[in-house]
Amino acid sequence: MKNQGILTGADGEERPARILIVGGGFAGATAARHLERRLPKAEIRLLSSENYLTYNPLLAEVVGASVLPGHVVAPLRQMFRRTRVHQVDVTAIDTAERRVAYRGLGPGSFRYDHLLIACGSRASLELVPGMAEHALPLKSVGDALHLRNRIVARLEEAELEPDPEMRRWLTTFVIIGGGFSGVEVAGEISDFVAASRRWYRHLDAPVRVIIVHGGAHLMPELPVKLGRFTERKLTRRAGVEVLLNTRGTRVDARGIELGGGTRLDAGTIVSTVGTGSNPLIDRIPAEKLRGRLRTAPDLSVPGVSGLWAVGDCAAIPNGGDDGPPCPPTAQFALRQGPQAAANIARSFRGQPTRLFAYRPKGLMSAIGHNRAVARVFGLNLSGFIPWLLWRGFYLLYIPTMARKVRLFLEWNWAMFFPPDIAHLRFVRTGGAADRPANPDSSGDAAP
Ligand SMILES: Cc1cc2nc3c(=O)[nH]c(=O)nc-3n(C[C@H](O)[C@H](O)[C@H](O)COP(=O)(O)OP(=O)(O)OC[C@H]3O[C@@H](n4cnc5c(N)ncnc54)[C@H](O)[C@@H]3O)c2cc1C
Repeated sequence: MKNQGILTGADGEERPARILIVGGGFAGATAARHLERRLPKAEIRLLSSENYLTYNPLLAEVVGASVLPGHVVAPLRQMFRRTRVHQVDVTAIDTAERRVAYRGLGPGSFRYDHLLIACGSRASLELVPGMAEHALPLKSVGDALHLRNRIVARLEEAELEPDPEMRRWLTTFVIIGGGFSGVEVAGEISDFVAASRRWYRHLDAPVRVIIVHGGAHLMPELPVKLGRFTERKLTRRAGVEVLLNTRGTRVDARGIELGGGTRLDAGTIVSTVGTGSNPLIDRIPAEKLRGRLRTAPDLSVPGVSGLWAVGDCAAIPNGGDDGPPCPPTAQFALRQGPQAAANIARSFRGQPTRLFAYRPKGLMSAIGHNRAVARVFGLNLSGFIPWLLWRGFYLLYIPTMARKVRLFLEWNWAMFFPPDIAHLRFVRTGGAADRPANPDSSGDAAP
């Protein structure tokens, strides 16, 4: 009979194998699900900073209030049957002792026989000077909520502001980066402001949404034709301004300096560029490739017994030793998790592990105004039909049936009813210590 996850100790006693997963994103969560099936006798624990999986591709929709934040996350405990979920921050990994240290309410540690690292990457705001202090990133649900709140706050402030120049500053939104996230968030902000304006009856300032992009066309991941289509739709339909071949050189409290000495003054700067390595990866004694843990084609980490890595934190050759590193996308993470689970199970049974190989089926991006662009099975698509396809795809993939139903209802609701313009202040009554002076404060000030 196949080994179902049992190990024999030095004393001859049998015990369940201990498998730890660090990270509850796409890669870690899918790995846990597959491990449960492949090794039913093993003890599986998933350690993650949040107790939910974030569906990142829909974060821009949270910014534009097209969906509620709770609809783009899935509680990890509801995704598994047997896996034990612990909401903790992993602080150190001792690969010699096979022990993982964490911090929850206090410090603690777990021993492991196999460890799967799936801790993703982090947003890096160091790319442009001043970005860390004055720009807002979009990497987590918290970032999306913060940004949504900022947009509403700026509209509220602008309606009351007597100085026309200051009003223009408040209603100018700059997005750094014209990749997928930048385009999606620009489309969402533009749609949200257009739909909300009628409640700001005394706001006469023009609302500007501007994308600053270093490349020659938007969305470099897609063919030039689709990039140009996106640009036309964004500029003509949604009124978004697109600055191509333009780099931000410095961000300050008033706005952004651009190459060539020009500058844009704006009350909100959003950064969708820059990715840094997770500090946990830096502390693992193994080879890295641009901050990602280098793996063998079968997802194991060479030279470190019992260690595996998947997702954005790993540099995985696609299709063999000479293959190009897999891109850091959800599409790849969702396939690497199950493959790592299968290879861990094979290693228990003394079977040869299999290499990871995946050819992406396509790329899709919503661009606002119920439009999307896509390249699927070699075909370039744009307009309303790909937008329906985009929504159908995400409905299919979002975890748990409850989330699928809620998202479906929410999307339909948003087509017929106005967006929610409530400015949610996360302030506890009487909680002086928890009360920020301004819930939107990010160190920026008026010009
Ligand atoms: C705004 C945005 C839009 C995107 N859109 C798309 C898209 O349209 N299509 C696409 O394919 N990809 C998209 N991506 C990329 C995609 O989301 C990532 O490639 C994917 O999430 C990677 O999965 P992962 O499991 O490796 O990491 P993540 O999903 O980032 O998960 C990492 C997990 O590790 C946990 N963690 C980190 N450090 C620790 C620690 N020290 N201790 C405990 N837990 C820890 C985190 O809390 C998190 O749960 C987008 C990303 C963003 C930010």
